[in-house]
Amino acid sequence: MKTVSALLDKQWYERYKRISKLNIRSSIYDVTNRCNLRCKGCFFFSSGEDMAASEENDIHKWKEFIDKEKERGVNLAILIGGEPTLCLDRVEAFYKRLPTFCATNGIIKVPRDRFPDMMVGISLWGDSEDEKILRGKDVFAISSKNYEGDPHTYYLYTITPKQIGKTEKIIKKIQDTGLKVHMQLLSNDEGVDGFSWKTEELKDICSEMDDMLDKYPDTVISSKYYHKIITTGQMLGRPFGWNECPSVTEPLDKRNPKPKHLIHFIRWASDLKTMHRCCTSETRDCSTCKDGAAHMSWVMVNKRAHMESAESLQNWIEVYEMFAKLYQFIPW
Ligand code: SF4
Repeated sequence: MKTVSALLDKQWYERYKRISKLNIRSSIYDVTNRCNLRCKGCFFFSSGEDMAASEENDIHKWKEFIDKEKERGVNLAILIGGEPTLCLDRVEAFYKRLPTFCATNGIIKVPRDRFPDMMVGISLWGDSEDEKILRGKDVFAISSKNYEGDPHTYYLYTITPKQIGKTEKIIKKIQDTGLKVHMQLLSNDEGVDGFSWKTEELKDICSEMDDMLDKYPDTVISSKYYHKIITTGQMLGRPFGWNECPSVTEPLDKRNPKPKHLIHFIRWASDLKTMHRCCTSETRDCSTCKDGAAHMSWVMVNKRAHMESAESLQNWIEVYEMFAKLYQFIPW
C-alpha cells in the first residue's frame, strides 16, 4: 500500500494535512414540513416526506434533541425542510449549539444580527424561465437582493438539461452579486417533461462545468473530478447507487456487506423521532439519483481507493476541500 506522504509533494501534503484533521460528522434535519414555495422536483414533497411525521412545536424539545445530537458526535448540522427560515427559533437553537448550515430558497432573509456567520446555501434552479416553470416564479430575483455581497452565502445551482449553454450567464450574475456558487444536477423525481438527462447532455454539461470552473475560479466552488463523477455516475470504475451510497441513515442501513458510509449519519424528520432513509428522498430511484452531496460523500469516504496514484489522491483532496469550503470548515 502506498502512503500519502510518498504520493504527494510538499504543497499537496500540506493541503491533505489541513483536511485530514477535520473529522466531519454531519447529520440532516427537516426543520419544518412547510414551505413558502412548491417546486416541481423538490424531493421532500414529491416523496411525501412532508407527511411522514408531524412537526414538533415545542422549542425546548428541539434544544434537548440538539444537545443529544451533539453528544452523539454530530459536528455539522445541515438544516433542510421544508423551508427552515419559516422557523428561525429552531434554526437558532441549532446555531447556538453546533456548526450549522441552512439550506433555503432565499425568499426570507436570514437576519445577520442573529446569525452572523451561519453558512447559507440558496437553491437556484436555473434561469428565470426554468425557475418559473419549476418553482412558479423567478426566485433568484428575490434571493439575490436579500443576500448580495454576503460572505457566508452561496448559491446551490441545480442544473437541468435545459441549462446547457446558459450556465455562464447565471454564473456571471452570481459573480456580480458578490456570492459564490456550487453546481449540482437535477434528479427529475417528478418526471417533469424535458428535464430528464440524456447521456450526450451529461457529457456536454460536464465540459461546460469544467469551463465555468476555469473561467470563474473565484466564484465557482467545485472540482473537475466531481463534475466527472456526477455526470458519469462512476468512480474508479464503480457505479453509484444503493449498493455504494454513503449517505444512508445509519440505524436504517441493513445492507450486507455494508459499503463505506458517513459515520453516525441520520436524516431526522421534524418530529425529532422519525428517520428518513437517506440524505435525499424516500422514493427516489437510486439508479437515477444525481444528488451532489451524496456523490461528494461517496468520494470522501473512499480515500483508500484513491491511493493508487498521486493524481487520484489529489482528486480526492480537491473533493474533500470543496465539501469543507461549502460547510465552512476551511475558508473559500
Ligand atoms: S436516493 Fe440517492 S442519496 Fe438516497 S440512498 Fe439512493 S443513491 Fe443514496
